[in-house]
Amino acid sequence: MESSTLIENVEYLLRTEIAPKSAEIDCHPAALQAALQVLGKASLLALRVPHVWGGREISEFTFQCFQEQVARYSGALAFLQAQHQSAGTVLSRSENADLKRQYLPGMGCGQALVGISFAHLRRSPPPVTAVALADGYLLNGELPWVTGYGFFQTFIGAAVLPDGQAVYGMLPFQTTEQATGGKLTCSEPMALAAMNATQTVTVHCQNWLLPKSEVVKVSPVSAVAVSDRLNVLHHSFFALGCARAGLDILTTVYQTKPLPFIQLAQEALETELAECRQSIFSANPDARCFEQNLQLRAWAIELAVRCAHAAIAASGGSANGMNHPAQRVYREALVYTVSGQTTAVMEATLTRIQAPGRKAFNIRNSYKS
Ligand SMILES: Cc1cc2nc3c(=O)[nH]c(=O)nc-3n(C[C@H](O)[C@H](O)[C@H](O)COP(=O)(O)OP(=O)(O)OC[C@H]3O[C@@H](n4cnc5c(N)ncnc54)[C@H](O)[C@@H]3O)c2cc1C
Repeated sequence: MESSTLIENVEYLLRTEIAPKSAEIDCHPAALQAALQVLGKASLLALRVPHVWGGREISEFTFQCFQEQVARYSGALAFLQAQHQSAGTVLSRSENADLKRQYLPGMGCGQALVGISFAHLRRSPPPVTAVALADGYLLNGELPWVTGYGFFQTFIGAAVLPDGQAVYGMLPFQTTEQATGGKLTCSEPMALAAMNATQTVTVHCQNWLLPKSEVVKVSPVSAVAVSDRLNVLHHSFFALGCARAGLDILTTVYQTKPLPFIQLAQEALETELAECRQSIFSANPDARCFEQNLQLRAWAIELAVRCAHAAIAASGGSANGMNHPAQRVYREALVYTVSGQTTAVMEATLTRIQAPGRKAFNIRNSYKS
């Protein structure tokens, strides 16, 4: 299927089946589960997995458009499915053919659902470590963030080895004990300000034996920093979708409150979003362009927050209601501010917040004229 047709179909599916329930999807796991199944029924859950493993193998560009569209209509769904899509990509690159056969063919339709827990590899000292044994690896410590409890049957967890490598392996996503005495303990789902239905937990590993058969890969921890530089724009597509969601609300508000300054803000932010989007979609992913791409990521984050804030301001007092769409989108913008955050992204975000840039001032100046 041509990429534009796929994205048009996805947009229609999201607008008709997901958007009307996005408030419920944000806070009720059952509604989020049903939303995930909508994507599964349309075989949209293994988009980056090669055809040979039952995936859609869509281009990077189409995948970015997809992530943006899902984030426009439901942050919780965008965030949950993103973990599973990443697991599919990591598994499809694994040299463990048995694991690939076991999981990949069922991932596109959601029959096999897999989460991830890698973000902590950026932390020092590592919160979870592994030691090699003859028949596998022994894991101890805490996996601080694992989204999808109750949705995903398994997740790919990563633990740091004494030689500076990280072992990635399949772990059951439930509290369980091994005959060897190993234990995995999942916390209660965290009470989060946004996307609460995604059920993010901490998983404690106590002498958990990861058998060799469950190992997805072993690679240097330093590879994470390399990939962070190459993929600095990856999370921007969610922020762009979130900004779009804020402007969708502004458009709706203007229909009932036709105040000229709402329209002015709408137009200025539309123009800025179009510019930001164009710059991100046409950015050179080469690591040598990291600094420019980092600035684009910070722009997308800050713009998502501003568009969501504009939706709140225009909606008035009712936007303080937990179920108001502007309130939800604003909270989602906060998640996109930190998801996949690295030290460089944190710095770029804070720098941009201190000096929001010329365009933000243009909006203010246009009110004066
Ligand atoms: C709701 C939610 C769900 C999530 N779900 C998942 C999931 O399913 N799977 C997953 O892998 N991740 C998940 N994450 C993690 C997410 O990607 C991380 O938020 C992000 O990577 C930032 O890491 P952190 O919050 O652990 O912050 P930190 O550990 O504070 O790290 C933020 C940055 O600061 C740097 N840093 C920290 N301390 C220092 C220091 N003392 N000196 C210098 N630099 C430092 C780190 O290296 C990192 O680059 C989730 C996060 C949230 C909020």
